[in-house]
Amino acid sequence: MDEGLHSGFAEGGPGRLPNVGAGVARAGRSVVTLAEPPRPHLPMRPLWRCRACGAEWPCSPARLRLLREYEGCRVSLALYLVVMLNEAVQDAYRLGLRVDLAAWYVRMIAWIRRPEVPVERAHQ
Ligand SMILES: [Zn+2]
Repeated sequence: MDEGLHSGFAEGGPGRLPNVGAGVARAGRSVVTLAEPPRPHLPMRPLWRCRACGAEWPCSPARLRLLREYEGCRVSLALYLVVMLNEAVQDAYRLGLRVDLAAWYVRMIAWIRRPEVPVERAHQ
C-alpha cells in the first residue's frame, strides 16, 4: 500500500518528529483527529521552568496570561508573584542551587513594571 505515508508513524526515534501519528484515531472509515489541548504555561517545580515551552517561568506566554488575568490589579499580581518568588527561592535552596535574589526578582517580579513610567518619575 502506501508504505511511505505510514512509515513515519511507526518510527519515533531521536531526530524524528515525536508522536507524528499520536493524535489520530481511526473510527470505521473516518479519521478523527484528537488534537491534544494546549498545555498551560505553568511552572514545573522545583525547577520553575514552564511545563509547556520549557523556558524559565514566567515565560512570555505566562506573563501575557498573568497580565490579562490581573488587568487593573497590578498590586495583586505583584503580591502573587512575591509568593511565587518565595516558593521558587525555597525550592532552589532545597535543591542546593546558588540563589541570586536580584536575578530572581528581575525574572519573577520586575517585568510587571510599566515601561512607559520611568522609575525616577514614578516617585515624584
Ligand atoms: Zn511557557
